[in-house]
Amino acid sequence: MNLAELVDPPHAQGDVKLIRARDELRAALASVRGEGRSIGLVPTMGYLHEGHLSLLRAARAECEVVVMTLFVNPTQFGPGEDLDRYPRDEERDLRLAREAGADLVYAPPAEEVYPEGFSTKVEVAGELTGVLDGDPARRGPGHFGGVTTVVAKLFNSVQPDVAFFGQKDAQQVAVIRRMVRDLDFPVRIAVLPTVREADGLAMSSRNAYLDPRARQQATSLSRALRAAEETAPTAGLAAALDAARAELRVAGVEPEYLEARDAEELSEVAELGDRPVLIAVAAQIGGARLIDNVVI
Ligand code: AMP
Repeated sequence: MNLAELVDPPHAQGDVKLIRARDELRAALASVRGEGRSIGLVPTMGYLHEGHLSLLRAARAECEVVVMTLFVNPTQFGPGEDLDRYPRDEERDLRLAREAGADLVYAPPAEEVYPEGFSTKVEVAGELTGVLDGDPARRGPGHFGGVTTVVAKLFNSVQPDVAFFGQKDAQQVAVIRRMVRDLDFPVRIAVLPTVREADGLAMSSRNAYLDPRARQQATSLSRALRAAEETAPTAGLAAALDAARAELRVAGVEPEYLEARDAEELSEVAELGDRPVLIAVAAQIGGARLIDNVVI
């Protein structure tokens, strides 16, 4: 069946179907699944940019039905973070999602995801959620608890064959992969490379917070990572981190963290070995807290 046939006129948005209720989502996908068609899921918080669109296009190329979720998940924001001012433009998101090949956009209100009495958490314990962004002095493990809980719910509601995530959020990828493995979710996780602006800045909905000066400073993050990447093979990881720190210093950026870790376990590493090493950076630049990373 063509999904366009399922479109409910009041919700119609070209040939993308907008759904707000989980039961309606389930009903729409039950018929798709009954026909044996593969489902790809792209979870987002909206305010779409080319990074999101690359995930949608990959899903379009690989799956027969593409579901994008658009939900600014309150439980992954800490007190004092940017939940209230997180940029939103649903109309534009629907248009871009449709153009990139989404068949269905699930954009539930918060009460649909967290009804009264909601009291369950899905949490990956240990180092994966306790370091880098999960360090209690930063966003803390609660951030990833919010992420894994909502992603587990989305996996259950959509039951995708493949779910698409961006390498931009490297720790999120490591945490979700572990959750999927530990809880036997029958889904394959596909990870797509970080999409960047021409000057190297990793695309992010939060880049909208940058004034021109901060926008310029923000280019130092990718320069720093590139310096690390170039330095590491010959001079080692410590020198690579020094080279990255020097790039940030020149730009007047003080990182929240700049660390080298095992890309999968997120354990500390002192030297390059035979396993991929993640170099991750986070910094508050102007009005935006930005993250970026490279895997060597
Ligand atoms: P968000 O809306 O920021 O929660 O991101 C939704 C998905 O898009 C996540 O899997 C992100 O990792 C991914 N994503 C965000 N920015 C980028 C980027 N610049 N390149 C590739 N994927 C991205």
